Parts: sequence; structure tokens; C-alpha cells
Amino acid sequence: MPDTDFFSSGDGVWLRCALHAHTTNSDGELSPSHLARHYERAGFDVLCITDHWVRTATPDPDHLIVIPSIELNATLDGTASDAHVLALGVRSDPVEPGRGFPNLQETVDWILAQGGLPYLAHPYWSGLRSDEFLGCKGLLGVEVFNAGCELEIGRGLSGVHWDEVLERGDKLFGLATDDSHLAGYESAHAWVWALAAERTAEAALEALRTGRFYSSSGPRIDSVELADDGVRVRCTPATTVRLVSSRFFGASVTARRMGDRSNARIVEETPTGEIVEAWLERLPSMAYGRLELVDAQGRMAWSNPLWW
Ligand SMILES: [Zn+2]
Ligand SMILES: [Zn+2]
Repeated sequence: MPDTDFFSSGDGVWLRCALHAHTTNSDGELSPSHLARHYERAGFDVLCITDHWVRTATPDPDHLIVIPSIELNATLDGTASDAHVLALGVRSDPVEPGRGFPNLQETVDWILAQGGLPYLAHPYWSGLRSDEFLGCKGLLGVEVFNAGCELEIGRGLSGVHWDEVLERGDKLFGLATDDSHLAGYESAHAWVWALAAERTAEAALEALRTGRFYSSSGPRIDSVELADDGVRVRCTPATTVRLVSSRFFGASVTARRMGDRSNARIVEETPTGEIVEAWLERLPSMAYGRLELVDAQGRMAWSNPLWW
């Protein structure tokens, strides 16, 4: 599991990553090269192209690393549900089965065998229950936020699904993604900041494999310091900073309004009262907590779970 030192270690380079996007090779509007240039212009460092059942490669533009990836379908045993699984950085092309998809565990096993990183896409949009992917061996994480699903039908936020498996001991990471099909409409809304050892595809994938990243639809997390009795976080101006833990537990502080201080306090604020540093207490019974920030525009950031 990641320690939090990577936030302030100064080792490596922060890469802004778009990890879920489609091209004309599946149901996206732009060609692979146009999509890559679009994300380059939007200020991204890494783009994983995740066409449905197609591993799309395209040359890197000058300032963007393109990582061929796939979005696969998987069945969930005993249900009619259809899970979508991101296969980031896989080295082989998929073979789409004629009828019926492999189940989730078989899909994750195949992704790992091809050197890829398996992440479950949009569980809320897919109508999944957390017990349907609980205990899946090798699954690295879930999309905590999928902007396309949010814009389309308001089911982009899967924080509850994530919390339910964390509470039961599955140490999954959380991604924020665009799931872009129509670049410019549902693109550059959500991304991952990964701290990679260097600016290469291999180093970016290693950061995504080991949890050296956080997710965002706006706010930046500048530092996280974990202590036995709590966590200190510095960030761009936020209106709410929370530590989400297992049921009944956690901490939260909200800017400006009196009284919204639950096991937490503002250490430093802007002249207009927004939070730039907060302290959140850990109760001894909390095995973990994940940071969640909200800014004045309602945009959010999500840390991976911090395990004590
Ligand atoms: Zn999908
Ligand atoms: Zn997709």
C-alpha cells in the first residue's frame, strides 16, 4: 500500500493522466491522433485510450504520452449485470468472444497476464452492487468518479461502492476519469495526478499500479502528512475537507459556516475563508481513511485510502 510520503517527497514528476477515453476505433468521435492532440492541448501528460475491445495505439504528440489500453466487458456470476473493466497498459490485443463474456475474475486475470492494470469502470452507472466485485483478486481499484456517466445520467459518483469494499478489507484505489466519447463536451472534467519516477509510460503505469496518485475534478492536494492521531492536508482552496472511513467514523470540516467542525479543524484559510490546510482526527478504531475535498464550484478531489 502506498505511504503518504510521496505527496511531499519531491521524488519524481506529477503527471496529469486521462485514463478512460474513446476514439473512432469504438464509439468515440475523434480519431486516435486527434484525441491525443486534444488531450495534449488540454494540458494532460498521459492519455490511456480505452476503446471497447480494441487496443488503440497512436504516436505520441510532442507533450503527451499515449498508453494503449482497452475497456472490456465482464459478466458477474449469477447476475445479469455487465461490468466494464479498464485494462490500462495491456500489451496484447483482446479477442472479443462471439457470445458471452468471461466473468470478472477471468477478465482481471487476463489483464494481469498481459501486463495491464485492471480497474473497474463506473460501478454506479453499471448498476453494480459492491458485493459483486468484493474479493476480486488482482483488481486494483474502481472509478470513484466518471464524468461522462455524471453528465449523461447523474450516476458518475461511486464513492459508496468504493467505501463498501474498503470497509470489508479490499484495499482498492480510486480513479477519476472522463470516459470521453465527444471530446470537448465530456473531456477534461476528471483526471488523475500520478507521481511517477520519470516522464515515461512505464513510470506512469507503475505509479498507477502502486497507488502513488490521487484523483480530481478540480482541486489539487499539495501535501498529506499522516500521524498516529490524524492527518494534515494542504490543498488548493476548498470549502469542505473530509476524512471518510468505515461506518460511523470519519471527520469533516466546512469553510465559513460556524459549527461544521466534526473531529477536524482549519489550520489555514484564505482571506475569503476557504480551507488551504486542515487537520482531521483519527479515532483509534479507524483502520483507514480517504480524503475527499470539495471546492466552491462543487469540484472534488479524492485521495487513495490512507491505512494506519
Ligand atoms: Zn464503460
Ligand atoms: Zn468507456
